[in-house]
Amino acid sequence: MKPKNYLIKEKRSEAPSVNSLILNKQLDSKLGQFYMVWAKGIDEIPISPSSVNPGRLTIRNVGEASEKLCQYKAGEKVGLRGPFGSSFEERGEKILLVAGGIGSAPILPLAKKMRDKEITIALGGITKEELLFVSKFRELGNTIVATEDGSKGYQGYVTEAISDLDISAFDSVYSCGPEPMMYKVFKRVRDKEIFAQFSLHRYIKCGVGLCGSCCIDPEGLRACDEGPIFNKNELKNSEFGSYKRDSCGRKTDLI
Ligand SMILES: Cc1cc2nc3c(=O)[nH]c(=O)nc-3n(C[C@H](O)[C@H](O)[C@H](O)COP(=O)(O)OP(=O)(O)OC[C@H]3O[C@@H](n4cnc5c(N)ncnc54)[C@H](O)[C@@H]3O)c2cc1C
Repeated sequence: MKPKNYLIKEKRSEAPSVNSLILNKQLDSKLGQFYMVWAKGIDEIPISPSSVNPGRLTIRNVGEASEKLCQYKAGEKVGLRGPFGSSFEERGEKILLVAGGIGSAPILPLAKKMRDKEITIALGGITKEELLFVSKFRELGNTIVATEDGSKGYQGYVTEAISDLDISAFDSVYSCGPEPMMYKVFKRVRDKEIFAQFSLHRYIKCGVGLCGSCCIDPEGLRACDEGPIFNKNELKNSEFGSYKRDSCGRKTDLI
């Protein structure tokens, strides 16, 4: 599949290390799916849109390719291949969304889609400047905020900020963010009658299920094909929460 070019209509700074590229066209991805996005001359990286209409990519600058994408300007073109992977499934009436850092990007369109339900949103960031889309989330539901430095909301991890919530009161839980954060959420829902889905940000190379770079032990589930959205039952007894693989396939720590 060849990349399709989109014109960048607008560029927006969301946080010191995060920029959004607003595209000239609508995207046709389902909630939580991703595109392989070309950073010219460098690499192609997976990004889940933070909006499909208009198309919007929200990118945290963490390395070479994401830095290049964050440098793109309005009027330039960006190439997208996709959409790929599995998507969030809307279920239940009482919903908990837990997002950390850039994980807020794919959670925002899900929150918008479920706005007519009773939603609680838990947002975590390192500092208040790095929290994403707080005012947008506040319009959609009860929003709990946590920052590691205490500059906004609860001081500490978002999982600690929601430790008093009665998780059994929710029909469904959705989460995206650092894997140790998602794993804490997973442990709370694992053995309960709660529908739960997690968006795994693993190292994805081909995006189409061929190369095996993003396989998850022991079943070999591919984060790019069976994922990136996994139901809790698919993650039980897997490497989720323990380790991931780097660009060479070596096991590495999660953070
Ligand atoms: C399905 C999916 C959706 C994603 N959606 C978004 C999004 O909407 N916005 C966004 O900013 N990022 C998103 N990511 C993460 C993004 O793809 C990585 O940050 C990017 O690939 C890093 O590439 P790089 O060349 O800039 O950094 P590299 O030089 O490759 O790596 C720099 C650092 O980032 C880490 N890293 C590399 N790949 C990933 C990865 N896949 N996830 C997390 N950390 C990684 C490396 O371990 C290293 O520490 C998503 C990832 C997946 C799998």
